Parts: sequence; C-alpha cells; structure tokens
Amino acid sequence: MSTYPALHMVIGGKTVGGSSDTGRAFEDVLNPATGEVLSAVPLANAADLDEALDNAAAGFRMWRSATPEKRAAVLEGAARLLRERADTIAYWLTLEQGKPLAEARGEVMYSAMLFEFYAGEAKRTYGRTLVRPAASRAEVRYEPVGPVAAFAPWNFPVINVARKVGGPIAAGCSVIVKPSEETPAAGIAVVQALLDAGCPPDVCQVVFGVPDTVSRHLLGSPIIRKLSFTGSTAVGKHLAKLAAEDMKRTTMELGGHGPVLVFADNDIDAVLDKVVAAKYRNAGQVCVSPTRFVVEAPIYEKFRAGFVERAKAIKVGSGLEEGTQMGPMANARGTEGLAKKVADATARGARLHTGGERIGNQGFFYAPTVLSDIPLDADIMNDEPFGPVALLNSFAGEVEMIAEANRLPYGLAAYCWTPDTTRRSRIAEQVEAGMVSFNGAGVSAVDAPFGGVKWSGHGSEDGAEGVLACMVVKTVHES
Ligand code: NAD
Repeated sequence: MSTYPALHMVIGGKTVGGSSDTGRAFEDVLNPATGEVLSAVPLANAADLDEALDNAAAGFRMWRSATPEKRAAVLEGAARLLRERADTIAYWLTLEQGKPLAEARGEVMYSAMLFEFYAGEAKRTYGRTLVRPAASRAEVRYEPVGPVAAFAPWNFPVINVARKVGGPIAAGCSVIVKPSEETPAAGIAVVQALLDAGCPPDVCQVVFGVPDTVSRHLLGSPIIRKLSFTGSTAVGKHLAKLAAEDMKRTTMELGGHGPVLVFADNDIDAVLDKVVAAKYRNAGQVCVSPTRFVVEAPIYEKFRAGFVERAKAIKVGSGLEEGTQMGPMANARGTEGLAKKVADATARGARLHTGGERIGNQGFFYAPTVLSDIPLDADIMNDEPFGPVALLNSFAGEVEMIAEANRLPYGLAAYCWTPDTTRRSRIAEQVEAGMVSFNGAGVSAVDAPFGGVKWSGHGSEDGAEGVLACMVVKTVHES
C-alpha cells in the first residue's frame, strides 16, 4: 500500500511548493487517529494566486469553446482513473481524515460516478427557441459563467472537490479549487486525475493557503465570476458578502441540523437499524447527518432504548483497521466543540445515555453519544453539532413534529419514517428543507440536486442543476 504522498499545489499544470521549497509557509497535516504529523502542505503566496488567476482567465477563454465531447472525454477519463486509483486515494483519505477505509473507497467511487454523470450532462446544456412571428427569432442560450473559485471542506475531501470542479468543467468554465489544508492529498488526487485525463492545465488548478487570505484574494479579482463554497454557515455568510461586492454568482452548501421524524406506525427495529448507522457515519461530520430525532410519544421509550443499545455496540477505531465502523473525528476542534455542547446540554437537564467523552488520549476519538430530553434552548439543539451525537426528544404528534423540524433557520436534509402515504405528501410539502428522505437514510445521488434552503445555503450540486449552476442565460432577439 502506498504511503502518504508528497503535497503540492498545481498551478498551470506545474507542481508548486513541494517539500524542498524554502520560500513558502507550510501547514502541518495530522493523522486524526494518532495526532501525529503526516506531512506539511504548502500555502500559496500572493504571486501564486495571481498566477492561478491569470491561468484561469486563459483557461476559460479556451475551454468555453471546447466541444461538449471534449469536456465529456476529460470527465470520463478522470472517472476511469479515479476507479483505477481508488484503493490508493482511499488510503490517503483515511490517513488524513480518519473515516473507515470502506467509506473512503465509497467516496472515491461516488466521485467517479459523478464525473460520468456530468460527462453526459456536458452534452445536454440545451437552450430553447421562443415562439415569434415569421422572420423573427428569440433564442435562450446557456453559456459558462466564467472562472470559478471553489472552496471545499475536510469532511468529504474527495466528493467535495469532485463536486466543486466537475460542474464547472462540464459547463465550460475554468476552476481554481482550494481543498481543506487538513485533507490535501485527496483533493490533489481528484485534480490530478482530471489533468491526467487531458484536462488543460489552466482549466483546473489547486491551491492551498490561509483560507481567509486565499478567498479574499480570489474573490477580490474581477477574473473570478463565481464562488462555490461548502462549509459552515458563518463562513458562508462572510464569503457571500465578499462575492456580492463584485456581484459574483454563488453556490453555497452550508450547515444543517437534520430533523428525523419517526412516527409510531413504524417497525421500530427496522428504522433503528438504518438510522443509527446513518447517524455515526463519518463520525457524524456530515452536513446532511440525521441529528434531531423527533419521535412520536407512544414509541419514544422503545426507540430510545434501541438507539442506545445500538450506539454502544458501534466499533470505534482507526479507519485502517478491519471491522472499524466509526473512526476518529477529523480534528481537535471537533472533539473540543462537541464536548462543550454536550456539557451545556447536560447542565441544562438533558439525559446522557452513552458516550459524552473522548476515547483514549491519542488522536481525536469521541464515543458515539446519545442525549435525550434535551431542552430546546440548549446550544446543541440550535447549532450544528457536526459530530457523533444523536439528540432524541419526544413530541405529541404530527403538527408538533413538523413545527420542530422547521424550528431552526437551517434547511438542508430532513428525514421521515412512516408507511402512511398521505402523511408523507403532507410532510413533503410542509418541511422546509432542500432534500427530504422518506423511509431511507440517503439524500445523495449523482443525478439528484443536492443543496439547501434558508441558512443551509442556495444553489445545487450534482444533478443537471449542478452544471446549470455554472452557466448564465443569454437571450438573443432577432427581428
Ligand atoms: P470553519 O467554518 O472554520 O471551516 C469550514 C470550512 O471552510 C473549512 O474547510 C475551512 O478551510 C473553510 N474556510 C474557513 N474560513 C474560510 C474562509 N475565510 N475562506 C474560505 N474558506 C474558509 O469550521 P470547521 O471547524 O472546519 O468546521 C466547523 C463547522 O463547519 C462544522 O461544525 C460544520 O457546522 C461546518 N462544516 C460544514 C460542512 C458541510 O459539509 N456543509 C463541512 C465542514 C464543516
């Protein structure tokens, strides 16, 4: 198995800031399972970013005229390479982020599927012709928006980067992506697959840096026409303001606080088998994680007992070990933030059934945690916990449950378990969320738009919408 790779930026196809570079600052990359330093990632300086911007401008001029077949061939080729390299990339991902290898491999495969889907969509950005009297014409065209500045977080280091670059490349844009400095190898691997598949070097570039410095620099340039960001709502609002200064387009994929409505008419064990695994996937560091379990009163006690039993049985360990179901959290900020929120909740009267503490003193392990009867004013019921904690509360019935689902300013994913089809249509209509899942734990599919409403952001990735989000409309009238 390959060891952790050399880290660098890729600017205009050139490897920039390798380990022998003495002119740049570097930031350590940690292994969250041990807390040890894996390597160091180079941070861009102003000259690097200016060079990337000039390249992106040139790349856009060329790529906007590339045939859809050429764009599709690059995405298909990159998908093939991601599949071939999946074991190696997954290993790097687990080393730098912590998730179990099987989840890491699944992430690489999803990204390959996304590129394949976008390859098809690249050929389907149809316009339309409007009805006009003879000799007159009006045509609606979709054109690539321009160079994109994209910022991807550390929780899904492969998928997030694939989403950030796949849409722009399919649409005919150039893109500069900044993956998280905490998980750089996975992001570099996605960009490298595209370059190896024939993507012109100026079309897809990767930089690292001090996040605020990089985003201010790129968003301050008139070359960039679109911001694409995945991360917290707080940072998203800050970046949206920077983008607004120059009226740049935005796709904002921000935080959530996923409600899970569980009605009494369910087979409780069957629901628990699905939702508990979904809760602790990626140690809960998932923007669409099921978080607030909104349980109908008659089944509350039974649901809680079954939840706690299953949470206690989860095997926590290094993501590289066979049989591990949950790895460490990705960074020390995660464990520290979660510990504070759990302490706040219990101090306000919440019941702690299991977990609520770190495991060992190496790395960033935090035990699968279940809290119940949590006052709605506790921090954890209002701010995204982004960790392995399930929040269980009891509600009288459908009206109260929908009110709880909509209580927060977030609106990313919502889940509901009920066999009752008329109830499902009421809830689909009334729940304020970008994605709603009935009787299942998944909301992500390459052909389905992924995105939120309210403070969870706007715009979509994946699906046809993920490509259209990188295009602007031009109407051409002829008389
Ligand atoms: P954070 O808000 O500091 O960072 C989130 C991401 O944004 C990171 O990848 C970071 O590199 C990037 N970032 C931060 N400031 C930036 C800036 N000025 N310009 C450009 N990029 C910037 O927080 P964090 O500690 O990494 O995570 C905390 C919270 O963020 C989590 O609890 C969760 O709520 C949210 N988050 C959400 C997602 C998601 O998928 N929606 C992913 C990661 C984190």
